[in-house]
Amino acid sequence: MSRTGPVAGRGPTRERAGHLTPLLPLQDLNLAAAALLYDMVALQASERSAFGYKRAAKAVVGLPESVVDLVAGDRLRDVPFVGPSSTRIVRELVETGRSPTVERAIASSAKASDVAKRRVLRSNFLSEHAMRQVLSAELPPDIVSRAAFRGDFQMHSTWSDGAESLPLLIEGCAALGQTCLGITDHSHGLPIAKGMSMETVAAQQAEIDGLNAELAGRFRVFKGVEANIQADGSLDLTEDERRHFEFVVAAPHAKLRRTEDQTERMLAAVSASAIAILGHPRGRVFDTRGGVQCDWPRIFAVAAERGVAVELDGNWHRQDLDFTLAGQALDAGCLFALDSDAHSRRELRFTDYAIAHARLAGIPSERVINCWSDDRLAAWMAERQERTPVPPARSAKGARARRAAR
Ligand SMILES: [Zn+2]
Repeated sequence: MSRTGPVAGRGPTRERAGHLTPLLPLQDLNLAAAALLYDMVALQASERSAFGYKRAAKAVVGLPESVVDLVAGDRLRDVPFVGPSSTRIVRELVETGRSPTVERAIASSAKASDVAKRRVLRSNFLSEHAMRQVLSAELPPDIVSRAAFRGDFQMHSTWSDGAESLPLLIEGCAALGQTCLGITDHSHGLPIAKGMSMETVAAQQAEIDGLNAELAGRFRVFKGVEANIQADGSLDLTEDERRHFEFVVAAPHAKLRRTEDQTERMLAAVSASAIAILGHPRGRVFDTRGGVQCDWPRIFAVAAERGVAVELDGNWHRQDLDFTLAGQALDAGCLFALDSDAHSRRELRFTDYAIAHARLAGIPSERVINCWSDDRLAAWMAERQERTPVPPARSAKGARARRAAR
């Protein structure tokens, strides 16, 4: 990323080896503008002035329209929470590619090194506007798109730390045109996220069986869990416990600010039996932490060999993996899961960010589990669990009859 100029990134490429020709040059001026406002947040002496810049930055990053058009039409002042100082900074960026206001503020501050550190923690994120541009860009038809996307494989309900019930999440996914989902409430090793005991898991799975029977032929819920990758790379669920699910997402939730190499930890996790997806692999958070440092090509090679999908977590603050690392995973031969990590229906739309990063990395639908049929998904999940697939309920009536026969 240039110091204050537009964020330029690598777009999808056709010939991955040899000369890489970007199909989609990315110029995310909205993110660059928001990043400058976040620089100002870091420089403020008072919480109150920091709050103003923070609100403005959030507003800019969430704009559906380009700041270039807003500046040209003199409409930036109409954006809620973007006051005169923020307007000046955004205008400078759009008109000159840099902001002398921010540069002066940094030069006269004792917090310059803090700003430099935070800038690294904002790279390869997409603004709402850039995400929309990428989703609507003309790309070869084999590249993953919203139209090819059937279902989301990481989300949380009231069975753990989510805000809404599973039936409401199903409604939300169906409203987005999706026809399946994977529910991945937290496992018992993460009490801070209200992780489920195995008794709770049994109750949740009974609810899922009932819902699947009701929805048969229209929608399918896959029984997942988000297991925690512990400090030594082992999972918080035993192998036996992992076999209670159709699929297991393994994801790191601690030691995400360390600078030392954690390749061994992540290798252990991706090599564990009965895991299907490596969730938010780095555990990075925008402007806050960089996440796990490791030799990613080594992790991707093992994931590819074992048929474990690597996740592009679309939660706005995560965007993890981003398009650059996703491109490396594509080269390694990985499968991908593009998920929202939603904790409510409102957040289900975060899959759009995951799809946008995948498109920037040039990932074909064929490699994306979210685009597969229920049967192919069930077969792939069963293979990860080393068992035969669970057949879907044929109809509500049939499922009731089968339950009664047990
Ligand atoms: Zn997680």
